[in-house]
Amino acid sequence: MKSFKERVAQGDILISDGAMGTYLQAKGLNPGECMESWCVSHPNVVKGIHEDYIAAGSDIVETNSFGGTSYKLKPYGLADKVRELNQAAVALAKQAMAGKGYVAASVGPTGHIVEDEGGDVTPQDLYKAFKEQVVALEEGGADALCIETMASLSEAVQAIKAAKENTKLPVICTFTFEAGARGFRTMMGVTPERAAREAVAAGADIVGANCGNGIVNMIEITRQMRAAQPNTPILVNANAGMPVLEGEKTVFKETPEFMASKVPELIKAGAQIIGGCCGTTPEHIAAMREWPRRHVKLTVNRRQSTANEALPQTDESWLVRNRKGRA
Ligand SMILES: [Zn+2]
Repeated sequence: MKSFKERVAQGDILISDGAMGTYLQAKGLNPGECMESWCVSHPNVVKGIHEDYIAAGSDIVETNSFGGTSYKLKPYGLADKVRELNQAAVALAKQAMAGKGYVAASVGPTGHIVEDEGGDVTPQDLYKAFKEQVVALEEGGADALCIETMASLSEAVQAIKAAKENTKLPVICTFTFEAGARGFRTMMGVTPERAAREAVAAGADIVGANCGNGIVNMIEITRQMRAAQPNTPILVNANAGMPVLEGEKTVFKETPEFMASKVPELIKAGAQIIGGCCGTTPEHIAAMREWPRRHVKLTVNRRQSTANEALPQTDESWLVRNRKGRA
């Protein structure tokens, strides 16, 4: 099987997986419980979620290690379990994938803000914490690192540097944007253009956006990132819409069919790896994988902004490539 890096470099469209957190909640994870601890306390549940996504057609699954830094594990009394939990997370994803696709190891924010931005930690503190996590994830055998849900550039840069300087893995970095009067910004005020540019400058191989938006907003966010970084592959994991409170339950209302119908536009905007975030399920992933094949011709416009050469890639060539890749 070709490596993750090779598949991305040759322009293949890859399908990632959907939500982990909201799926674990549906399987009984309680609010306030440490999600990552389920890698050791409920390994079959975590592995089962990966298997559901793989059955739905995910080429890539993300590990249950989003809150796997010592900062995030500390409140649960698990700060000394970074290595164990992160390695367990990769092992479960690898067992489920069984060599048929790729394991991207999730790395989320620490929950702390650096001093320059008004917080209580130094960039070096963050670097150290990310280093500990990414080294464990590489040792576990991950194919890539997915630094995600970032709002602070400073924090994202430390995570990227820790990953590039201490592992050999391809590094994905995605940010979470909010739609406001001034356009899309992260919670810390970073635009999609700036996020993409600075993440790449710090060493990220793939940039993108996850969470915080349904799939329609992600199309515009992708366009802005593509304009800033014409040659960098883009990953988009959209929520199934914005969370809506119904009684005591948070629900996400974008249907699999709706999200799938927007995938061609997302690809046209420049996205190459597509999956879901909060509220998305294996049904969403299955639809997002199948819908474009049935309805449209796909083209990847990776180099669109730097060259006038069209990149002709019909849905058929995509199909063939995907079949080959998954065989
Ligand atoms: Zn999310």
